Amino acid sequence: MNRKFGILPAAHAAYVDSCAAARIPAQAEVQTVGYAIKSAGTHAPDGTFINSEGDNEPYCAATDFSVLRPNHLSGGQVSRLLLAMLERGFAPFWRHEGTFQDGPHIHAIWADCKMKPQLQAQLGDFVVGRSGLVGHRLDSFWASFIDQHAWERYTSALVAAQRAHNG
Ligand SMILES: [Zn+2]
Repeated sequence: MNRKFGILPAAHAAYVDSCAAARIPAQAEVQTVGYAIKSAGTHAPDGTFINSEGDNEPYCAATDFSVLRPNHLSGGQVSRLLLAMLERGFAPFWRHEGTFQDGPHIHAIWADCKMKPQLQAQLGDFVVGRSGLVGHRLDSFWASFIDQHAWERYTSALVAAQRAHNG
């Protein structure tokens, strides 16, 4: 599967690996660097990197991953994928309720890179089990899915990876 423009190569590799671990074919990378109105700036560029062609490419730490293309994932498949992504250094939010009912997707922040304050705040929300959205409600998905011990281990790895870039 080709890397979508704007996703860091390390994040892309971790995503492909996550799909394999979750035993699903790689799903589409929908949005990385983008300006969708609904995203409220979340996907604006976080910086640039030198890509394999030697060009400066903008990247965004957050990527939206499809749960509908090319495969319509079952709830169990989505859960497996979210866990595999968490294990590999993403903070993956499962966007499927409320305004996301029409366009369910995984909004995932790659922790191991420099990112804008807006995404740092979202990552901070994630590690305390909150939605990263206006209202910052508790996200019931993870609490029902993973034990506290594992949660603390994975989220402290995310925080450590992020600290290395943003102090
Ligand atoms: Zn998003």
